[in-house]
Amino acid sequence: MSNDRTPRRGVLLIVASPSGAGKTSLCRRLMADHGGLELSISMTTRAIRPGEVADRDYHFVSDDEFQALIDADAFLEWAHVHGARYGSPRAPIDKALSEGRDVLFDIDWQGARDVATKCPDDAVRVFILPPSLEELRRRLVTRSQDADAVIERRIANAKGEIQHCGEFDYVFVNDDFDRSYAELAHIYHAERSRRFRNTWVDAYRETLLAEAV
Ligand code: 5GP
Repeated sequence: MSNDRTPRRGVLLIVASPSGAGKTSLCRRLMADHGGLELSISMTTRAIRPGEVADRDYHFVSDDEFQALIDADAFLEWAHVHGARYGSPRAPIDKALSEGRDVLFDIDWQGARDVATKCPDDAVRVFILPPSLEELRRRLVTRSQDADAVIERRIANAKGEIQHCGEFDYVFVNDDFDRSYAELAHIYHAERSRRFRNTWVDAYRETLLAEAV
C-alpha cells in the first residue's frame, strides 16, 4: 500500500489570545514540530520591535502600502488592532490550501471571525486565555518590548478580546507551557484526522478492498 496521504484538505488553524497570553511561543513550537504547517505571515503598519525580523515575524508596510493591498483585494482578512492595521495576505494561503498544506494564523478575534465566515469548513479557531490579568501584565512588562503606554493599552484591550472567546471552537488557559502545548497539538492532530479533510481515504479504501488475500 502507498504511504501517500494525498489529496487532503488543509486546516486553517487560527490561534488568538490577548497579547502576552503566550500564543506566539506556542505557535512557534507547533511550527517547529510540524514541517507541513505553514505560518501565515501578516502585513502590519505597526513599527518593528527590538528582536523582530522583517518578513519572518511580519511584513512591515506603510499605511499607503497597506491601503493599496486592501484596494487590490490582497487580504483574506484585515483589521485594526491596538491602533495599527494588520492583515493576512491571501495568495500564500490559497497556494498552501491548493497543495493540501495547513496554515497557522496568529491573528485577533476579528480576523478569526472573518476567516471562519469566509472558509467555514477549513477554519479551526483556538482561543488561549491567560491565568489572570495580573499575570498578563507581568508577562508584558517582563517582555519589555513595548512602551508603558502601549502595555496599558494592550491590557485594556485584553478584556475586549477575552469577551469574544465564546466564538471559538476550542478554549484553554495557558497556565503551564508544556500542558498548553500538548493541548494545542492534540487539537491540531485531531482536526487533521477529520474524515472530510482526508480525501485520499476513498482511493486508499478501494485499493485495500481490492487486495488479494
Ligand atoms: P502584535 O502587535 O503584538 O504582534 O499583535 C497584536 C495583535 O494583532 C495580536 O493579537 C495578533 O494576533 C494580531 N494580529 C497579527 N496579525 C494579524 C492579522 O493579520 N490580522 C488580524 N486580524 N490580527 C492580527
